[in-house]
Amino acid sequence: MKKCVTIIVPCYNEQDVLEVCYASLEQLMRDNDGYDWEVMLVNDGSTDDTLKIIKSLADRDSRVQYVDLSRNFGKEAAMLAGMDYAHGDCVIEVDADLQFPPDVIPAMLERWEHGYADVYGRYTSRTSESVARRLLTRLFYRMLRAASRFEVVPGVGDFRLLDRKCVDALRSLREQQRYTKGLYDWIGFSKSEVTFDKAERVAGRSKYSLRELFALAFDGLTSFTTAPLRIAIVGGVAISLGAFLYMLYFLIKTLIYNDPAQGFPTLIVVMLFLGGVQLLSLGIIGEYVGKIFNETKNRPVYFVNGSSTTPHDTTTR
Ligand code: UDP
Ligand code: MG
Repeated sequence: MKKCVTIIVPCYNEQDVLEVCYASLEQLMRDNDGYDWEVMLVNDGSTDDTLKIIKSLADRDSRVQYVDLSRNFGKEAAMLAGMDYAHGDCVIEVDADLQFPPDVIPAMLERWEHGYADVYGRYTSRTSESVARRLLTRLFYRMLRAASRFEVVPGVGDFRLLDRKCVDALRSLREQQRYTKGLYDWIGFSKSEVTFDKAERVAGRSKYSLRELFALAFDGLTSFTTAPLRIAIVGGVAISLGAFLYMLYFLIKTLIYNDPAQGFPTLIVVMLFLGGVQLLSLGIIGEYVGKIFNETKNRPVYFVNGSSTTPHDTTTR
């Protein structure tokens, strides 16, 4: 029996690229007819004609399925929805804008056939992105690597092939603030890498502004490690120790050398400094408390407005 491969494509306002995307996936499926293919288009609350195009594609080609989310839940949620509805023995995640070239997919499948459960694409160039974005990305990865024991490889995005067991593992993690890049690593399983050149977006524009990327990075850090809390502790200890030494210094100066300290400027500086540090630490704690607050509500990650197929199974949900 042929193995079934599901390609998941999250789509948010992608009316300009969907046809091109489908055409190249169609080509891929034609060239690799040793597999049964399923294309899972997830409409992530688009406000343009994306859903209409998706539906017409599904009418045209029986391999195309779709899930229509009730609003824009973000790419991470859209991908989870795709995984819930995917029926394949493995799934491959691609972006609608074809920045992840489908011609790498056969190489991924080959790795999968060799027994790897998680074959990720790593891009070798980032030419299409601004210097600021590249710098920030680098900084973020360095911070994340320093902060957690998980190896989140730079240059690795969501372009990857996941075996059914990885998919089921990811589906069992129903957390709200999904930082999927970290989750891939967290679930484990045998990994393999293929490299590719990241292409320019075929049309339309990136859905992420620099600000959103920043928020995403911050979320990634705080939802994946508790290191910032530890930094607050270390900072607190260091400052207390400094303050203690400073106190000794003044004590000695006053008692032994009979030289009373000039109070006001030193006092105000120390107070402001400590106040700042305390607020910062509170802020960090607050960030985590906020996450706990959101997570304890235990809301579903997404809602579905309509779909052309049923979820794969409900045991892991
Ligand atoms: N996307 C999504 N929901 C969102 C934002 C993006 O489903 O809220 C999809 C988008 O349609 C695309 C993929 O995620 O298929 C990557 O988005 P984009 O190309 O804008 O990101 P970039 O390549 O700039 O990181
Ligand atoms: Mg893109």
